[in-house]
Amino acid sequence: MKQQGKLSIIGFGPGSLEHITGRALSALGESEAVIGYNTYVELIKPLLTHQEIVGTGMTEEVGRAQEAVRRAESGQSVAVISSGDAGVYGMAGLVYEVLIERGWNREEGVQVEVIPGISAVQSCSSLLGAPIMHDACTISLSDHLTPWDSIVARVEAAAAADFVIAFYNPRSGRRTRQIEEARNILLRYRDPSTPVGIVKSAYRDRQQTIVTTLRDMLEHEIGMLSTVVVGNSATTVYQGLMVTPRGYERKYNLSKAIQTLKPHERLRTTAEPWSLAAAAARGDILAATGLTDNSSERNSPRTVLLVGHGSRVEEGNDQLRELADRLAARKPELHIETCFIELASPSIAEGIDNCIRGGAKAVYIVPVILFAAGHSKLDIPMVIDRAKQKYPDAEFVYGRPISAQKRAVDILLDRIKEAVPAIGTEASQLDGTTEVRSSEVRDRDTAVLLMGRGSNDSDANSELCKLSRLLWERTSYLSVESCFIAVAKPSLQEGLKRCLTLGARKIIVLPFLLFTGVLMKQCEEEVRRFAADHPQIEVEIGGYIGTHPLLTDMLAERIDETLAGQASANCDTCQYRQEAAYHHHHHHHHDVVEGEFHGRHEAAATSVTSAGGTGDMQRR
Ligand code: SAH
Repeated sequence: MKQQGKLSIIGFGPGSLEHITGRALSALGESEAVIGYNTYVELIKPLLTHQEIVGTGMTEEVGRAQEAVRRAESGQSVAVISSGDAGVYGMAGLVYEVLIERGWNREEGVQVEVIPGISAVQSCSSLLGAPIMHDACTISLSDHLTPWDSIVARVEAAAAADFVIAFYNPRSGRRTRQIEEARNILLRYRDPSTPVGIVKSAYRDRQQTIVTTLRDMLEHEIGMLSTVVVGNSATTVYQGLMVTPRGYERKYNLSKAIQTLKPHERLRTTAEPWSLAAAAARGDILAATGLTDNSSERNSPRTVLLVGHGSRVEEGNDQLRELADRLAARKPELHIETCFIELASPSIAEGIDNCIRGGAKAVYIVPVILFAAGHSKLDIPMVIDRAKQKYPDAEFVYGRPISAQKRAVDILLDRIKEAVPAIGTEASQLDGTTEVRSSEVRDRDTAVLLMGRGSNDSDANSELCKLSRLLWERTSYLSVESCFIAVAKPSLQEGLKRCLTLGARKIIVLPFLLFTGVLMKQCEEEVRRFAADHPQIEVEIGGYIGTHPLLTDMLAERIDETLAGQASANCDTCQYRQEAAYHHHHHHHHDVVEGEFHGRHEAAATSVTSAGGTGDMQRR
């Protein structure tokens, strides 16, 4: 039999020699070779005596794991080192994966020992006070090996469940937005004053500890060597130390020597009204365990059909599909299909066919559309009407567009922040110097130009203006102006000129578009040209809505409304009525029953205002 070597997978703790365990030290001593990331090998170099140092140039973790296994298989005693604990975003799992891939046998193959170390969640917490104490979790914000959607879903879940959270890999030179998005999610569940600790290089040279809040955390340096610990709703700060109470309700008395509850009384159900036993005693055991009798619902998931616009730019269509994936991850109890109004497939009719073919008895149709106009008021309902005739036994429930709302303004504020970044070079991040604003132009000399798609439906156009106003009220800019890239006026060019007329020294163009596409590209091109023609003006352009987590939120809400049968279209300012529908159908030669509007929309169809376009377009 071939002689087998040994693999010691060693977590050596945060970095100081004093925080390495005794077993880690002895295992290092027993090894003939050491494999690890350069920086880590440097940290433990004082402990190495005879060991060969392997592959310090190797940047790939997989390569290191393979090399370690290869050497162990040829009889060597190899130490694979990770900082912290090797089982926490470290080498342990990877080494096992390589072994399993090679058909490793636990009894006869190379011997493996995983030696535990102090992970960053523990070392950093010890420097911050006692922020963990209660239920906590670790989340790595690195999306190199984990899909960002999964990370978002975990941050959401941890935030909602009030876990103390330790964020590993919070930011690197290239991955800068993840921690910002994570904070945005947390802010929806936790108070802005929630304590946050940022520890850089715990127990190493240049150790740095900051205690701040969810509100202010981004004003501090966060880098590759930092761990960010976010407190739960009970965490407090005392003289710069974060402390999370051991229990939410005090069963113990801290100021008195004698406890009010005697030891044998402490475990009584009455002393723990929050416990499972107490819930069972009250008879709401089902509620306590989250078990309700919805077994029939669980057997047949409800089907939601998301309707996007569709684009000539395939990337834009993919973005709708990705949104659907995010929603599916968020709502695993649903079956979610996608379709497009035009320019991409499947069409709405095909989308409905897919749902019915998949066994849906009811299809909940939710438009992924910003503002209500012709598409959502007319085109989609028309296809639904036809589907009703085709599938008389099925039920069709129609939702409503996103429309102007506070979260849309939140998204715009985030897009402004990204478009007008604080300069944070890698160097300044590392030595902790304060960041400088990139621009000297003050807010009151800056105009924001919100750009919508534009429609010949004044209802939709006016919603963009409403958003501009809502945005302006939450900023200190000279003005927030509105313009449109297609159909309606003022055009993007006219909007830019308006900003000049107002005396703006800086213009931030904010496209209010869901996804990328022809219009987004046209906008970028026009803004680039304008900037070139006006070198004295600072011009920035914000990103489209895209993957912003609040978009997922807004749609999740529209889905919930639709499932509950609560979505109602805004008919008050709607210019389309039965008559218009007739013309439209007629125009397109559709053999649809005249004036049959879908669902709630028809209820208001009596308050007919002037039919026909009254959009800005017609004014010119
Ligand atoms: N196996 C390691 C984690 C590796 S992932 C452990 O258990 O600690 C790398 C991330 O760990 C870093 O981005 C940082 O978030 C965190 N980290 C590791 N060592 C740290 C230290 N000494 N101080 C602060 N954070 C640290």
